[in-house]
Formats: sequence, C-alpha cells, structure tokens
Amino acid sequence: MTHFDTIIIGAGPAGMMAAIAASFYGQSTLLLEKNRRLGKKLSGTGGGRCNVTNNGTLEDLLAGIPGNGRFLYSVFSQFDNHDIIHFFENNGVKLKVEDHGRVFPTTDRSQTIIKALEMKMLDLGVDIRTGTEVLSVRKNNEIFQIKTAHQLFTSHKVIVTTGGKSYPSTGSTGFGHDIARHFKLAVTEIEAAESPLLTNFPHKALQGISLDDVTLHYDKHIITHDLLFTHFGLSGPAALRLSSFVRGGETVYLDVLPQIDKEELTALLESKREKALKNVLKSLMPERLAEFFAAPYPLKVKHLLPKELEQLIASIKRFPIPITGKMSLAKSFVTKGGVDLKEINPRTLESKKVSGLHFAGEVLDINAHTGGFNITYCLCTGWVSGIQPLAVSRIQ
Ligand SMILES: Cc1cc2nc3c(=O)[nH]c(=O)nc-3n(C[C@H](O)[C@H](O)[C@H](O)COP(=O)(O)OP(=O)(O)OC[C@H]3O[C@@H](n4cnc5c(N)ncnc54)[C@H](O)[C@@H]3O)c2cc1C
Repeated sequence: MTHFDTIIIGAGPAGMMAAIAASFYGQSTLLLEKNRRLGKKLSGTGGGRCNVTNNGTLEDLLAGIPGNGRFLYSVFSQFDNHDIIHFFENNGVKLKVEDHGRVFPTTDRSQTIIKALEMKMLDLGVDIRTGTEVLSVRKNNEIFQIKTAHQLFTSHKVIVTTGGKSYPSTGSTGFGHDIARHFKLAVTEIEAAESPLLTNFPHKALQGISLDDVTLHYDKHIITHDLLFTHFGLSGPAALRLSSFVRGGETVYLDVLPQIDKEELTALLESKREKALKNVLKSLMPERLAEFFAAPYPLKVKHLLPKELEQLIASIKRFPIPITGKMSLAKSFVTKGGVDLKEINPRTLESKKVSGLHFAGEVLDINAHTGGFNITYCLCTGWVSGIQPLAVSRIQ
C-alpha cells in the first residue's frame, strides 16, 4: 500500500503520538522514521530513564516552556500532561513522580515508554516503517507526495515531526525546516538552548559531583535546581537553564546551601567547634565537595580564625565560576527556533498556507526546559495534530 490518509515523518514522541491519534480516529496512518529504531532521542532523556512528562499545573507547564509556551494554550486545553499520564497508565505503564514534578516509568527504563507507544501504534494498525528516510515532500492537486529512497507514498494529510537540530546523531537534522521552506513557510533563526556551560574551572576534584537544589546566580537571574560538575564544566538543569542568559566571559556564582543563610551557617559551624571541619561540611554536602571546601583550612572548626570562617562561608554561599562558553547546538539538549508559529493555526497545528500540512514537536519554534517539559509539549502537539480530521472533500 502506498496511499494513506495521514503520513507522519519522524518517530520521536511527537510523531508516535500523532500516529496513535490519527489511527485512533480511523485514519489509515503511515509513520516513517529514518533510524532503525523508534524514539532514539527520547530514549536518552532523563539520564536514559525517559522523563516522559511533568505533573505540574498549567502554570508550571508554561513556566517550564520559556520559548513560546503561550502558543500552546489551545493544545493543552485539548490534551495536557495529565492526559499523558492517563494515556500511559491506561496502556499498562506504571509511572512515578520524582523531584520537580518529573515523571518516569517505575522501571526506570526508557524502553518501557517506547515499547508502550509502539504497541499502541501496532494495536491501532499504524504502518510503521523504520530505516526509511524521507527525501522530499511535494503537493500536487491536494495530494501530498512523500519520496523515500525506494518508494513514493501519497496522502491527504502530512504531519512533520522531524524534531529540531540538536543532537543530530539521534536523527534530528533539521529536515522539517527544509520542508517548511519548500512550502514557503518562514523558519525562525535556529539556536542552541539548554546548553551545558564550559568553564576553565581548574578543580578536577569536583568532576562528577552532582548537587541537588543548589542556586546559580548571574546578574539578576537566580536559578535553583540540580547541578552537575563535568569534565568540561557545568551541566544539569541549573546550568542548562542559566545557558539562556550567558554566552561566555561571565562569572556565575554558586550557592551550595541556598536553604541556609550566612548567619545560620556561621552559627551551625560555631556550634560544632570541637569537630573536624571536613566532617561538619560532610553533613551538609557531598563528601568530595566538603573535602574541597575544607582543604585550605585548619583541621578543626575551633582553629579557624574569624577571617577564615568568614572566607569559608563566603565561598560556600557565593562560589565564583568563570564561564568560558557554551556547548554548540549539536551538543545542546534543545533547539531554539523552528517553524514560525505565525504560520501555524494554534488549534489544529495546520499550516495556515498549505492545507493538510501539520507540524508538531520540536520542529516548531517552541523550546522548553528539560524536566519533561519538552516531551510534554511534543506528545501534546503530536496528539492534537493527529486528531485533526481530513477535509471531507479529501476523503471522498
Ligand atoms: C540528551 C538529551 C536529554 C534530554 N532530556 C530531556 C528531558 O529530560 N526532558 C525533556 O523534556 N526533554 C529532554 N530532551 C529534549 C527532548 O528529547 C526533545 O525535545 C524531544 O525528543 C523532541 O521530540 P520530537 O518528537 O519533536 O523530535 P525527536 O525526538 O528529535 O524525533 C524526530 C525524529 O524524526 C526523525 N527524522 C528526521 N528527519 C527524518 C527524515 N527525513 N525521514 C524520516 N525520519 C526523520 C529522526 O530520526 C527522529 O527520530 C533531551 C534531549 C537530549 C538530546
């Protein structure tokens, strides 16, 4: 069979959900994916555990989607994060909620999510072709022609879910932007977002340390979230979020203990005068970080001079980290920019200029924080684009 009601290009979260929705509403549906497996990028999210959504309120969702989140009001009124949770639970996936509202499968395995999506597609009769790269999309007499290396498929409706341009090794190379340009739709400037930060931070001792709920300050921006010291610099949600505000050349400040103010920390240290400084700090932070902060000072708290105590507390509460740059688009978690939202009907996700041509997921000019927010808007836009009926004239 080479003719379908709906053809979907790209099997990330947006494309798989679009395929489920289209076939659920009775459309013959073909899903084309150039990788040999489904959901390659999705499998790497949440540290390989698949951060499938976030269980926050609508306000939380919009705060988690700083790049054009408001465009999604209509989408979320049709299908939101709670619908995602119900969808997976109804399809046999047990979920759990972790810190910051992040939702994972209880198996801690991405494959649980990807398999559930695949099984649902197969149940509904979606024709899934992996290892099949789309080379071009054209429209002739209201019919789309989708060319792959070996076949020409036709359809009344096309949903482009090819992702952005970050981590191109997962398949997202910006092909959907080329489709948009072919149909004379505007594409906004493509940039990196949620980028790890580079530092010439000299302290190898800190590599691999991960900190929960610390605060990074830069200028008026204050971000409290988890942070990871890596071999190149800083990663983890706090660094990724701050990456929107720095370019390189700035100094950011880390507060390792934002929940305790300077006075409380001073009082706490003074109450443990007889103890080893390292042990006191170890009760407040990971051991290696405690060793790092304690290293320049005398062994016992009681031997610290008042000036030294002040310096120590200043470094824990406002530790300077010079930023030298950010990871490139290829190594950033998310793409900022994409198909211009002015071109897209926010209720149906159909192109305003080209009827039957829909876009969903990261190919659109929408970007979110990690923590399940990207995957949420990708699954929701996927669903909403999939449920849109074919125009009656096209069915006949
Ligand atoms: C390391 C990493 C960790 C992340 N962690 C999180 C997280 O914790 N929380 C969060 O919310 N987001 C996270 N993200 C972002 C999230 O994974 C993406 O926003 C999301 O996967 C985008 O979904 P999508 O369906 O739009 O596109 P993608 O998942 O990129 O899927 C697009 C698919 O289209 C296919 N394709 C492209 N061109 C063609 C073609 N010509 N023919 C056929 N197929 C094609 C690609 O092969 C690909 O499989 C992370 C991203 C990365 C890289």
